Amino acid sequence: MTRARIIDGKAIAAKIRNHIALKTATLAQKHGITPGLAVILVGENMASQTYVRNKARATTAVGMESFGHLLPEETTQENLIALVHKLNADARVHGILVQLPLPGHMNEAAVLAEVTPEKDVDGFHFANVGKLVLGLPCLPPCTPSGILALLKETLGNLDGLRALVIGRSNIVGKPLSIMLTNENCTVTLAHSKTRNIAAECARADIIVSAVGKPEFLRGEWIKPGATVIDVGINHVLVPEDAGGDGEKKKLVGDVCFNEALDVAKAITPVPGGVGPMTIAMLLENTLKAACMQAGISLPEEDPQP
Ligand code: NAP
Repeated sequence: MTRARIIDGKAIAAKIRNHIALKTATLAQKHGITPGLAVILVGENMASQTYVRNKARATTAVGMESFGHLLPEETTQENLIALVHKLNADARVHGILVQLPLPGHMNEAAVLAEVTPEKDVDGFHFANVGKLVLGLPCLPPCTPSGILALLKETLGNLDGLRALVIGRSNIVGKPLSIMLTNENCTVTLAHSKTRNIAAECARADIIVSAVGKPEFLRGEWIKPGATVIDVGINHVLVPEDAGGDGEKKKLVGDVCFNEALDVAKAITPVPGGVGPMTIAMLLENTLKAACMQAGISLPEEDPQP
């Protein structure tokens, strides 16, 4: 039996970042615009600090400006919103990202609603979500955009394919189901109340799992030849390598990877699949936002006069 092709999200994301860097250079040369991304982090969540650092590094690496705003845990929602308003009005800032989760005393939805939709590079504002549903130009959410880019790179045209999305979060599953519908897939959106996930998997040409349960999707559920995108990020403890009696932390996805390898046509690994695509799409949204705010179309890659 042929083993599944492993979809290299790292390499695909690197290629996209290269294209973005070339377009960013053209934008600066032809229009004198350097896209700027402001990232706000409230508190000292270790994982969030790492995400924010990685985003800042990726932003400057493609020639964009990065503005970091680190606020203490006890910041009031009023002060956070005042900063968002200041960044909404700052012409050097084309994209604003409020790193989630926010501390418990804040209402995330209320804060996100204050980011002007034109600078909402996370694509979480209800104005962007509404436009996505209506098929209008918008800033789409980054992880679903990254998944769609992986699917197009792997399968080309998605017309008529049966897609199963497992997980209905507002940041991944729900918007992805809309995007796949807009790409002419026939979409099923499954969740914890879905009666028979295995049966839903058995008829899907594309399975995207965004559940957050280690290795819950079994190889035997997958239709032979299907393409599987594993969004899950799960930290599990596994025995130390040979000899040791301790345990070490390991990152696994939602899919039993080794089982799926024998059935699927293509599959994303965890790590190295969807994860790297999310930041690439954030940069793409920042470039798009800068162009939209200047009233120009996305530049070509060639920065010739
Ligand atoms: P979430 O808000 O945690 O929601 C999980 C979804 O899974 C819910 O819709 C839930 O159903 C569904 N679910 C739970 N148990 C299920 C089961 N046994 N069968 C079917 N569906 C089930 O999800 P999220 O924020 O989208 O995150 C999902 C995973 O993706 C996490 O591991 C997260 O870390 C990862 N993630 C990765 C990236 C990346 O860039 N790689 C980005 C975002 C998220 P109900 O709605 O019925 O509760």
